[in-house]
Amino acid sequence: MCKKTTSSFQSAKREEINSETVSLLNILYHKVDLERTFGVSHFPVSSSDVQKPVINKNVLTKQQTNQTTPSNKNESIEEAEYTQVDKVSVLKSLEEEAKQCTQCGLSESRTNVVFGTGSTKAGLMFVGEAPGYYEDIKGEPFVGKAGQLLTKIIEAIDLKRDDVYIANVLKCRPPENRNPSPNEIISCKPYLFQQIDLIHPKIICALGTFAAQALLNSTLSIGALRGKFHEFRGTKLVATYHPAYLLRNPGEKRKTWEDMKKIRDFLKSGSNSS
Ligand code: SF4
Repeated sequence: MCKKTTSSFQSAKREEINSETVSLLNILYHKVDLERTFGVSHFPVSSSDVQKPVINKNVLTKQQTNQTTPSNKNESIEEAEYTQVDKVSVLKSLEEEAKQCTQCGLSESRTNVVFGTGSTKAGLMFVGEAPGYYEDIKGEPFVGKAGQLLTKIIEAIDLKRDDVYIANVLKCRPPENRNPSPNEIISCKPYLFQQIDLIHPKIICALGTFAAQALLNSTLSIGALRGKFHEFRGTKLVATYHPAYLLRNPGEKRKTWEDMKKIRDFLKSGSNSS
């Protein structure tokens, strides 16, 4: 190879390396910037990472001294006290982050990210499985027929829809409403866990098999998981049938009503039921 060719080859190689370095630095800068802004580490590199959402200490009030990174069903977090301003602003940042999320393949087929909606002061939080057709179009959870039934269920225990917080395990719709895959659940769970930690409801109602199993890390059926109080991230959890299932199986509504009465009584008495 002549001198001139060698020199232009080296120069081209240098440019390539420089461009790769700049690109890597940009990725790193973007990640650090997001973590600083949103207060969350949300770019998992392994399944153990994705199960440990990190909450930024900066959004905690003075009462909170120790940060915790709960990783599974019964690992309770210490009482975290957020101001309402903190909650709203961190949830908003988290929602903006979810809207850009490409952590799983559902990002390619979604119309909208369905983050969650409701009161940040909610004592009761509902967690469903994943957005369906109408939710994907509107960007809101539980807006179809199942959503109308959920509204009636909420009103049946003397609350309004605006009093509670509603979210799903997955923020993007699986095509044709197929079941969520384990990887999709692992990828998306940190969003939900951070929502739960921020809202810090008195009680969570898991709607349907997938939500109950995903939250409780269980393979038991909804029939086995419902009807009792579970411990979950420092709060109570009751599992019941998904409203869409109840529309197909109205005979099971009675069992859901029994579960909802437990929730209503717990909220009214504030008792530590078990
Ligand atoms: S389902 Fe969750 S993890 Fe997957 S792209 Fe949507 S927001 Fe991201």
